[in-house]
Amino acid sequence: MFKTLKSKISIVYLVLVVLVLIVGIISGINMYYLSKTIDGLMIDNYKSIKAVNLMNEELENQNNAILTFIYDDRQTAIKQFNQDNSVFYNWYNVEANNITEKNEGNYVDEIKSAYVNFTTSVSYLQGMPPDDKVGMLNYYNMKIKPNYEHIKDLLNSLAKLNEDAMFKKKTNATLDAKNSMYTILLVTLLAAIFGFIISLIFTNRFLKPMEYLIKSIREVKEGELDQVISIKTDDELGKLAVEFNNMIRRLKQYEESQLGKIIDERNKTLSIVKSINDPLLVLNSDYKIILLNGAAEELFGIEEKNAIDKHFLLSVKDEKLFEQINAIVDSKFNINKVEQVKYGDKYYDVTITPIKNYKSEISDILLVFHNITEFKELDQAKDDFISIISHEFKTPLTSIMMGTSMILEEKIGAINDKQRSTLVAIEEESEKLTELVNELIELTKIESGKEMYNFKCCSIFGIAQNTVKPLYNIANEKGVNLTNTIDEDMPCVYADPEKITWVLNNLITNALKYTDAGDDITISASVDGDFMQISVKDTGAGIPKEYKDKIFDKFFHVQNDDEFEIKGTGLGLAVVKEIVEAHGGKVWCESDIDVGSNFMFTLPICDERG
Ligand code: ADP
Repeated sequence: MFKTLKSKISIVYLVLVVLVLIVGIISGINMYYLSKTIDGLMIDNYKSIKAVNLMNEELENQNNAILTFIYDDRQTAIKQFNQDNSVFYNWYNVEANNITEKNEGNYVDEIKSAYVNFTTSVSYLQGMPPDDKVGMLNYYNMKIKPNYEHIKDLLNSLAKLNEDAMFKKKTNATLDAKNSMYTILLVTLLAAIFGFIISLIFTNRFLKPMEYLIKSIREVKEGELDQVISIKTDDELGKLAVEFNNMIRRLKQYEESQLGKIIDERNKTLSIVKSINDPLLVLNSDYKIILLNGAAEELFGIEEKNAIDKHFLLSVKDEKLFEQINAIVDSKFNINKVEQVKYGDKYYDVTITPIKNYKSEISDILLVFHNITEFKELDQAKDDFISIISHEFKTPLTSIMMGTSMILEEKIGAINDKQRSTLVAIEEESEKLTELVNELIELTKIESGKEMYNFKCCSIFGIAQNTVKPLYNIANEKGVNLTNTIDEDMPCVYADPEKITWVLNNLITNALKYTDAGDDITISASVDGDFMQISVKDTGAGIPKEYKDKIFDKFFHVQNDDEFEIKGTGLGLAVVKEIVEAHGGKVWCESDIDVGSNFMFTLPICDERG
C-alpha cells in the first residue's frame, strides 16, 4: 500500500495531523461545555437575582409611597405607587420567565399572590378617610406591613435560592475547567508521546537503509567493489539500491577489463625490457630500482631479487652518475640526457629518461646503458692514426713549402711564367694542407686531453682587441665593416687567453670568409648570470637551418652551390666547440640564409675585474 518513500512520509504526517486534530477537537468540546456553564451562571441565576433585587427595590419604594400617602401628599404617593407597581410587574415577568431552579416557580407564584394581596389592601387604604390617620396607620400595621414583609421574605428567599444555585454552578464550572485542563493536558501529552514514537519508528525505518547505503558507498569509494546492497523495499531507496548495485557491477567489470589490459601491457613491457641486450634499469622517485634486465644484472654483478626495491647506489656504485640522475629529476624537465661512463675497460653511453605520471610529475627514471667500447676504440684508433699522419705530414710539408718558396724566389735558378703559376698553385695547396695538419694536430691534442689549459682570470676586452687588430686589414681589403663593441669595463672571464684568442680568431675568420663587401661583422659581449656571452655576428651568407648544429662536427662543410666555394678544412668549429666546452661553456649559432650568422659562446665569469 505504502510503496513509495513519499507515501510513507505522508502517512507519518497524516498521523501527526490527526493527533493534532484530536487534541483540538477535545479542547474545543471542553471549551464549549465550560462556556455553557458560565453562560448558565450569567443567564439563569444572575438575571433572576437582578430581577428579584429590583422587585425588592420597587416594593420598598411602594412601602414608602404608602407611608407618604398616610402622612403627606396623597396624590404624589398614589402616582409613585402606581409607577413602582408597573416596574415591579416588569421585573416580576422577567423572573417568571426565567425559572431555572427547583422550587423557584413556587416562590414566584407565592410572591404573585402575596403582591396581589398587598396591592388589594393598599386599594382599601385609599378608600379610607384622609383624616383618619390613626385608622390608616393601624390598617397599615395590621394588614399592609405584614404582607410587605412577607413579600420581602419571599423575595430574599428567591434571591438566596438563585445565589446558592449560582455558587454551586460556579463551583461546578471551576471543577469543569480544571477537568478540561487536565483532559487537554493528558490528551496533548498522549498525542505528543504517540507522535514522537511514530516519528521515531518511521524515521528509523527510513534512515536505516540510507545509513546502510552511505556506508556501502564509502566502502566502494575505498575500492571495495564486492559490495552488494540488500535493501529489499519497493520504495525509492530500494530502487536506488538496485541502481547502485548495477553501477558497482559495471564498475567492477570495467576495473577487471582495465586491470587485465594493464597486466597485459605490463607483461609485454617486461618481456621487451628483459629481451633488450643493453643493460636497463628503472628507478622510482626514491631512486629505488623497480625494474632491471639480465644485461644490467650481469653488468653490475647483482641479482634481481636482491636489487629490487633497493637504492640505486647499493647496486650501481656510481655516485657521479647518481648526481646526474638527481640533477635531471631536480630540474623537473622532461629531457633525455646522455652521460658517458666507464666501468672496467668498457665505455657506456647512459641515456637517462625521466618518466612522467598523469600529473606530469617525474615518477620513474629509465636508465639505458649502451656499450660504446667498440666505437671508442675505433675513434681512438682513428685519432691515433690522424695524429701520427699529421705529425708525419708536417716535416715533408715544411720541406715542400720551403723548396717551393726557394724556387719561386729564384734562389735556385730562373723560372718561366708557366712554371711560376704551377709553383704558386703548389704553394697554395701546401698552405691549405699545412693549415689542415695544424688544425688536426690541435684537435687531436685537445680531444686526447693532452692539451694543457692555462686557466686564469683575464680580460675579454683585451683578448678581443688583440684578436681583432690584425684582422682589420683583411676586412678593409674586402670592404667589410669589422666592429668590436666589447667594453673595457666588462668583467673578467676564467679562461685560457691563448685558446680563447684562437676561438675568436676562428669565428671572425669564418665570418670574413662568408661575407662580402658592404657586410658587417660585429663582436660584442654581455653578462648572463655567472657567464659572459660573446657574440660574433655577421651579415653574410648565413647557414641553412638544418646545418646549424652539424657545422660543429669535424670536416663538415655546408654544401653551397652559389659563389662561395669551400674555403676551409671543416675542422675550425669542431676545435672551437672542444675548447669552449673545456672551459665549462657552450657554443651555438643562430643564422638565416642571406641575413647572416651569429656565433655565440659562453665563458665563466671570475670575481676579479681586469
Ligand atoms: P672551415 O674551416 O671550413 O671554415 P669550420 O668548422 O670553421 O670549417 O666551419 C664549418 C662550416 O660552417 C663552414 O664550411 C661553413 O659552411 C660554415 N660556416 C662557418 N662559419 C660561417 C659563417 N660565419 N657564415 C656562414 N657559414 C659559416
